[in-house]
Amino acid sequence: MDTDTRILFLEDAATDAELIERELRKANIAFTSHRVETKADFLKALTEFRPDIILSDYSLPQFSGLEAIRLLKEKEIHVPVILITGSLTEEIAVLCMKEGADDYILKASLKRLPSAVLNALKKKEAERDKERAVAALRQSQERFQLVARATNDAIWDWDILADEVWWNEGIQTLFGYGKDEVGTDRDWWYEHIHPEDRSRIAAGVQAFIDAHAKFWSDEYRYRRADGSYALVVDRGFILRDDQNNAVRMISSMMDVTERRQAEEKINYLSYYDSLTGLPNRTLFEDRLPQALSLAQRNEQMVAVLFLDLDRFKNVNDTLGHAVGDKLICGVAERLRTCLRGSDTVARFSGDGFALLLTQISRTEDAARIAKRAENSAVEIAQNILDALKSPFDFDGQELYVTASLGIGLYPHDGKDSQALLQNAGAALSYVKEQGGNGYRFYAEDMNAKALQQLTLENDLRRAIEREEFVLYYQPQVDINSGRILAVEALIRWQHPELGFVSPVDFIPLAESNGLIVLIGEWTLRTACAQAKRWQEEGLPPLRMSVNLSARQFEQPDLLDTVARTLRETELDPTFLEFEITEGAVMKNAERAIDIMHRLREMQIQIAIDDFGSGYSSLSYLKRFPIDRLKIDQSFVREATTDSTDAAIIMAIITLAQNLKLKVIAEGVETEEQLRLLHSLNCDEIQGYLFSKPLPADALKRLLLDAPSRPALGPGSIPDVRLNTVSLALRS
Ligand code: C2E
Ligand code: MG
Ligand code: MG
Repeated sequence: MDTDTRILFLEDAATDAELIERELRKANIAFTSHRVETKADFLKALTEFRPDIILSDYSLPQFSGLEAIRLLKEKEIHVPVILITGSLTEEIAVLCMKEGADDYILKASLKRLPSAVLNALKKKEAERDKERAVAALRQSQERFQLVARATNDAIWDWDILADEVWWNEGIQTLFGYGKDEVGTDRDWWYEHIHPEDRSRIAAGVQAFIDAHAKFWSDEYRYRRADGSYALVVDRGFILRDDQNNAVRMISSMMDVTERRQAEEKINYLSYYDSLTGLPNRTLFEDRLPQALSLAQRNEQMVAVLFLDLDRFKNVNDTLGHAVGDKLICGVAERLRTCLRGSDTVARFSGDGFALLLTQISRTEDAARIAKRAENSAVEIAQNILDALKSPFDFDGQELYVTASLGIGLYPHDGKDSQALLQNAGAALSYVKEQGGNGYRFYAEDMNAKALQQLTLENDLRRAIEREEFVLYYQPQVDINSGRILAVEALIRWQHPELGFVSPVDFIPLAESNGLIVLIGEWTLRTACAQAKRWQEEGLPPLRMSVNLSARQFEQPDLLDTVARTLRETELDPTFLEFEITEGAVMKNAERAIDIMHRLREMQIQIAIDDFGSGYSSLSYLKRFPIDRLKIDQSFVREATTDSTDAAIIMAIITLAQNLKLKVIAEGVETEEQLRLLHSLNCDEIQGYLFSKPLPADALKRLLLDAPSRPALGPGSIPDVRLNTVSLALRS
């Protein structure tokens, strides 16, 4: 490898060149040389010899040093040139240096030449290093810009000292700016930050620069060309010089608007109701425990109100879901206006809302806090009911709604959110059972069973007007002839949801709440009217047996009611019989006897129902102005298997015969029972064996059919012996 310095002589005098060479050798400069005289050879040498340095005479016959310098400049060839001349005026020397000569030396003082050459070479080397560095930098810059161009982010490269900002194309594609609109100083970036974020971001960047930090990152809103704002995450790194001063900052802005919107949407959907925009059940149930623990710490109370629209299902069913949705939104709107700032209202279910009332009171004694909490809840509940009073108007269609509210107070009605919610729910159900349009605090007796009872009671109240009751009729048959002598009217309740509800379940309930009076009146009227109708339809007249409950029996206006009913239905009283239980009569025997007398005066017959199950004393029985004893079916049921029951039946029958009363056995289900009763001289029977209770029209058909039923002749009854059985009445 040739490490010698290549020297090109531009010199017409060979001896001069030799002189110079000798001077250089003396200075131990290793070189190879080449000498040219003409422009053409000079140009050729530049490319072929490729000199490291040119030592040029100032004036040559066909060329000149100055021309050579200009040529190099023109061709952008950076080779140092030292002029060596016999004589050179000061002006020409300055001119040459200006044109690019590195030095000039007089031939008379060649001693300075070696150091001039070495200097020039050194300078040249330094320049070459610089060039290489610049080239490398340019290359890395290009690489950076290539990367910058490839990313979707907007990248800014801020030369802090010069305050120059270079942007990649991201600034255009992300934010819609035209190429010419993009500014080149930091202010341009800064001015496009949302005014509310601007000073925070600027301060943040400055703090990072001052703290000698390397990295910075923040999130802010950045203005798009159309004026809207994008949410960006900006991450930058700061370049520093040897003194640790920030000189450059390169940062990339990522547009996270959509991602954040999606996140927010997901967050929204999981915590808010999309129809009303209210918090949903999840959020409510999230907040409630927080509110409770806060209340516990501050000794405050919290109220949970459940709200349900009354008969909302009707709205949906009759007016459609669109109207239903509008109504829900309208209600949500009105609810908002009833709340205070600290309260929360959430949509819990279809037409169900939940309200959370907090900060009800500050430090006071517990009793006063409780009272105050209660008052606040009442006030808000009342406000809500009032707010719903005016009709909703949907395209001219007026809609009235009412609501039911159940209230639970913390800590009184529940120590944790679950208990509180459950109890507020129980209170709500209670209000709904009561017919809605009201509010109610939770009470401890609102347990499930009580609620069930309340439901039933509430429904029972409306059963008459809704015509859910119907009477069935069960024949009472002469045991010898098999003829239907009478029918017992038995009430049936067709509940809209529960279906058939047994009188065993609702008669005692109706007794306890007094509804039996109304129900009894209805039964009596219906039964009398039915009996009359059958007669008018030409059926053989029947006795109509109607049950009279203890409570009815106590009614002061019972006789009036009965008289009026008979008058209105025009039923002959001789065809009416009342069945009164033993227990009802014995409650107030003297009074009962009196009333029974009066009924008898009205020619109405009387039977003692469920006889044997109570505690009639024989002395009283004798005084009862009655026509019939109805043997309780519990005896009949066991009569053929349990000899004691058979004995009781026999005793009753014997007793009745002594008192000249008729005996009817109810609950007869088998032939065996029938035969036994027949053998004991029972007069009449009633039971499934002959017929179940039937609706009026079915019974009519049975009556028309009756002759075809087999009569029970005495011969068909087997002999039953009871002599060994001691007779006893339960007492
Ligand atoms: P009750 O007056 O002793 O009526 C007889 C009950 O026995 C009826 O039950 C009847 O359906 C049932 N029964 C009839 N034959 C048989 C049978 O062969 N086997 C069995 N296992 N049962 C039979 P129901 O209709 O369920 O009525 C139950 C009770 O409810 C009645 O007992 C009566 O105390 C009361 N009740 C029914 N309707 C009225 C009413 O209109 N007013 C009043 N105050 N009470 C009524
Ligand atoms: Mg009865
Ligand atoms: Mg009975």
